[in-house]
Amino acid sequence: MDLPPASTASPASEVASAGVGSGFRQTLVDLIPPAMVVAVVLFWMFAPQAVVDHPFSLVATGGFISFFVLGLEWVFERHAGWRLNKREFATDLFYVVLTYTAIAWFTQTLAEEPLAALKESLGLATPWITTLPFVVQVAMVIFLIEFGQYWMHRLMHNWHPFWLTHAPHHHITQLNAMKGAVGNPIELFLISLSVIALFDFAVAPIFAAINVLNVISTFAHANVRSNPPLFYSYVFTTIRHHSLHHSVPYEDTRCNFGNSLILLDRIFGTYKEGEASVVGQDERRRLSIYEQFMFPFQPMIDAIKARGRGTQSGWTGPAGTVTTDRTAPGA
Ligand SMILES: [Zn+2]
Ligand SMILES: [Zn+2]
Repeated sequence: MDLPPASTASPASEVASAGVGSGFRQTLVDLIPPAMVVAVVLFWMFAPQAVVDHPFSLVATGGFISFFVLGLEWVFERHAGWRLNKREFATDLFYVVLTYTAIAWFTQTLAEEPLAALKESLGLATPWITTLPFVVQVAMVIFLIEFGQYWMHRLMHNWHPFWLTHAPHHHITQLNAMKGAVGNPIELFLISLSVIALFDFAVAPIFAAINVLNVISTFAHANVRSNPPLFYSYVFTTIRHHSLHHSVPYEDTRCNFGNSLILLDRIFGTYKEGEASVVGQDERRRLSIYEQFMFPFQPMIDAIKARGRGTQSGWTGPAGTVTTDRTAPGA
């Protein structure tokens, strides 16, 4: 495989080679992600109750964040090889809609509601939470969600059955604003699980936290030439950290697990410095939506087919490509 290695080019040199313009202009672009985080928190802090209570408010703000960052990809492109085309856009949009409809329904029905019932039956009550400052509540929600997601994501990279659900996300061959939503539905459900329903947080800080995570993870997948300063990138995941996580060699993906809180990788020893511009798995074979949906079941289907033919065969992958690496991570 003659793929170039993960680039460790500094943001400064990358900016210079891309000819963005003045350093001042680039500094402003680098500050867009932190500015959006602040804007989102302020929005929900001062949002009228009618907005908080509206059933589509979170869909509207989440959609706005996605399309705003898509617009930035247009203006401040990071890699020409990641440029969005119609097929990529349609696939990404499909998964965003899936996330806000079917995945949201499953999460609500199979996780949130049972957790709320459990909280009720156990008599768990944390009314003191709502007396905390708004920003503290937002930070707590972010930490609780991200702590769970970090370990779930790490498990997916270390236990084969869970890797089969997560691998389709790693088969994406370019990074774009909506790519965080692309993956097998089982993985999308698993990664959405959290313990927030066990606490008495007010709705507005939960929405603020979800939108902050939207902003961070959207930029962490976006083809935008924005490299936020250390006060942001020490704590929050950036495109540099996350592109490295999307490296082609499987072993190179086992770092930077924090979807939004890269701080957790620094704490738990999985942080790795660097950046990748070439991303994918299985020699960068792009999966169709059908293949992404079937991926976890493919070993079983292939085994049944092989038995039917009376032959002994190993798994040859969803489209007949021999899979060499992810067949036994951690094995
Ligand atoms: Zn991963
Ligand atoms: Zn990703």
